[in-house]
Amino acid sequence: MAAPGVVLKGQTIRFVADPFAVPPDDALAHEAKGAVWMAAGRIQAVGPAAEVLAAAGPDAEVVDHGDAILAPGFVDCHVHYPQLAAIASYGTQLLEWLETYTFPAERRFEDPVHARAGAEFFLDECLRNGTTTACVYPTSHPGSVDSFFEAATARGMRMACGKVLMDRNAPSFLRDDAQSGYDDSKALIARWHGAGRNVYAITPRFAPTSTEAQMAAAGALWREHPDALVQSHLSENTDEIAWVRDLFPDAADYFDVYERFGLAGPGAIYGHGVHLTPRERAAIAETGTAIAHCPTSNLFIGSGLFDLKGLRTAAPAVEVGLATDVGGGTSLSMFKTMRAAYEVAQLSGFNLHPVQAWHLATVGAARAMRMADRVGDLAPGMEADVVAIDPASTPMIAQRVAAAESIRDVLFAQIVLGDDRAIAAAYVGGERAYTR
Ligand SMILES: [Zn+2]
Repeated sequence: MAAPGVVLKGQTIRFVADPFAVPPDDALAHEAKGAVWMAAGRIQAVGPAAEVLAAAGPDAEVVDHGDAILAPGFVDCHVHYPQLAAIASYGTQLLEWLETYTFPAERRFEDPVHARAGAEFFLDECLRNGTTTACVYPTSHPGSVDSFFEAATARGMRMACGKVLMDRNAPSFLRDDAQSGYDDSKALIARWHGAGRNVYAITPRFAPTSTEAQMAAAGALWREHPDALVQSHLSENTDEIAWVRDLFPDAADYFDVYERFGLAGPGAIYGHGVHLTPRERAAIAETGTAIAHCPTSNLFIGSGLFDLKGLRTAAPAVEVGLATDVGGGTSLSMFKTMRAAYEVAQLSGFNLHPVQAWHLATVGAARAMRMADRVGDLAPGMEADVVAIDPASTPMIAQRVAAAESIRDVLFAQIVLGDDRAIAAAYVGGERAYTR
């Protein structure tokens, strides 16, 4: 029997179906007077407040969040913590962006003091934006992984991260080699994977910065540690795709590079996928590989418009999670990211429903990370990562929500107008980790 724990009172939202498979409004369960009971780090009950309070018993602490929306913590399935310092850098597209802004910013993470401070700032900003889980790129320095997982452990957050593998087409101060990259990853997996809530992600940066020997080593690592994740980038920008064709002339296409080295399948998450061929779309779907949709980044770096409808509603559908891709992305806020996803979908004639957008930013991203049984929704047995969202955090949102006719309208107002000010509180593993 769980300890008495804590009951949060407020409006609750949770998913009862996939909003891309059923009418989206039917996929969300909303309780206007709801509650979430958390104990022993997990959700014990969620539903009408009277029922949840009765189940929790008289010894549970009760925290009344008023009319705040109690929702699953957001999940960001592709983000670079060392690039916070490069966010909002002007005037380049992908390859020049890396040379001009990214690589110099990443160089500073050879200093563990800098890395630890960067990790702490990143994680605190995640919490301030209601994001409780992320799939995170550090740098090629093994110490940048240690710093990150130390800071994540201190906060009790479920986080995935893994040393960036990069043995060519990068400055010497960031390059490893196939053997050292393998050895360092192996040691980091032993130290961190499955320790507390930490999950290791094998991380070749992208095909152009790894030799065939390093890609093969990454594939070997995944075969040896199949419950780790894999993360990389795919078909973000047309110049990048042409470069991959030159570097891997034997591959059928960009995704085939990853496939042939054993880096496709459930638990592999590729950022972007903006310019995919029909063969790549089919192969991604059939292998169960996931795509991290990074709309603010695709707009900011001018990479292109992601075909969310085409990929997510194909048969079989591609697993898609939402992601910020900071620092190419412009915000750690999943509200701003959902809004950009809506706007990008609009340009392809697809009206992304707010429940679908919210699902991509929670369950979808958790599914991409193969952890949807643990995070991304509110259900008994799941880890108790909960955010309390103030539905009227600014005068503009308040006047819009006052005229809302449904929870759909309330959520859409948050998506279009909300930011970090809407996050009233965040709970991680059942403990309060952030208060506005
Ligand atoms: Zn990225």
